[in-house]
Amino acid sequence: MVEVAQTVRIEVLTGLSRKTSRIIRNGQIEAGKVWGVCRDALKVAMTEHGKWPNRDALQKLTKGRFGLHSQSAQMVCHAFLANVDTARQLRQSGRKDIRYPYKDKRFYSLMWPAQAMALDGKRIVLPMGRGRESIVLPRPEWLAQPSACKIVWNRIGYELHVTVGTEIESAMAAGAQATVDLGQIHQCAVTTSTRKGLIVSGRGIRSEKRRLNQMHGSIAAKMTRCIKGSRRWKKLSRARNGYALRAERRIRDLRHKGTRQVIDFCRHNKVSSLYIGNPDGVRSRRSGRHHNQRMSQWEYGRDIDYLTHKSRQAGISSFSGTERGTSSRCPECGHKHKPSGRVWACKVCGFTGHRDLVGSINMHEIAFGEKPTFPVSKEVTYLRPGTAARRVLDRSSRPDTGHRSSASRPVLLHGSQDATTDTVRAPQGTGHILASPSEALPL
Ligand SMILES: [Zn+2]
Repeated sequence: MVEVAQTVRIEVLTGLSRKTSRIIRNGQIEAGKVWGVCRDALKVAMTEHGKWPNRDALQKLTKGRFGLHSQSAQMVCHAFLANVDTARQLRQSGRKDIRYPYKDKRFYSLMWPAQAMALDGKRIVLPMGRGRESIVLPRPEWLAQPSACKIVWNRIGYELHVTVGTEIESAMAAGAQATVDLGQIHQCAVTTSTRKGLIVSGRGIRSEKRRLNQMHGSIAAKMTRCIKGSRRWKKLSRARNGYALRAERRIRDLRHKGTRQVIDFCRHNKVSSLYIGNPDGVRSRRSGRHHNQRMSQWEYGRDIDYLTHKSRQAGISSFSGTERGTSSRCPECGHKHKPSGRVWACKVCGFTGHRDLVGSINMHEIAFGEKPTFPVSKEVTYLRPGTAARRVLDRSSRPDTGHRSSASRPVLLHGSQDATTDTVRAPQGTGHILASPSEALPL
């Protein structure tokens, strides 16, 4: 039997008629109300120390009361419960700052399970409930069968997110082990137990974020000089949203490409088990406002998610855990020292190596209980996300030292991938559950 993983394909909905846009908008307002009812039920249960609402209770409470297809309303309830679950798990793991859902939602994404979608030639028909007009959308060529989907507002328009199954490759035979060190300057640094290494640059992502911050700053300054809601204010706001949307797509694309390269590298080197170091805790350190901003915008959770998802698809077993202390220890003699540049140089035994690879190699001890020898520089590949050519470290392509030189200029500043269709992973347990057939609801 072939196992199937869920991924999400995104189709940007352009050229929607005014009527369709109106139906979607009104539907999203209704979905927001469903959320509100769930939230109120939870609030009552919390203040009265009663039984917390479950799936059945919420479905009963919201049944037939809203201008939505019954299954769309149910999916909002499920999303709400998933959100409560995630909050509970986080609180139990010590994150007391996490609150259970408490906000009003003016809008909420519209969701349909696969059973509710109808395909009709070149159209997708999404029902809005008996007696109401359905949403009719153009059918993308790749959509072969009815699938769970979601209509999402992306700040300037709507997107259709469709859950599609992708085949999982059979599990890799027991082979090498590898660890990933996540970072900002280098998105991923991988070492294997067979003395191979890979470094994927994260500078493309970092510079995209920097440009995004600058744009936010300059538009915010202009917006303070006009009246809120005025024509100019609206124009600026639209410009800002459009820019941010495009930048986020570029970042997402780079992130996918970077993590894909890690998995390809692992497959190439017959890795069957992958440890992903979780940098939790690094971010809480205070280190000046510029660095604080960079740190707070470092989305390593997504890197972990993408790597977990992609390795599952490739049949590699992955697990995640601490990376505490791994970057400040000499892999040869254990001497402790915090490097300031990209090169780790030991004062005691004279060892030198790439800083992020040092972190990665030290993780082997935490993950697998044994530490392989540090890869020689000839066996280390240095990549930027999106570049197809694999380059081996030698004189013609030096590692990223942090200094600008012809060999280490951040590329893909203007990565202009047309992101009309895109694949992202389905978030699991993040509170935003996605319509997925595997979670088919007992209806
Ligand atoms: Zn040493």
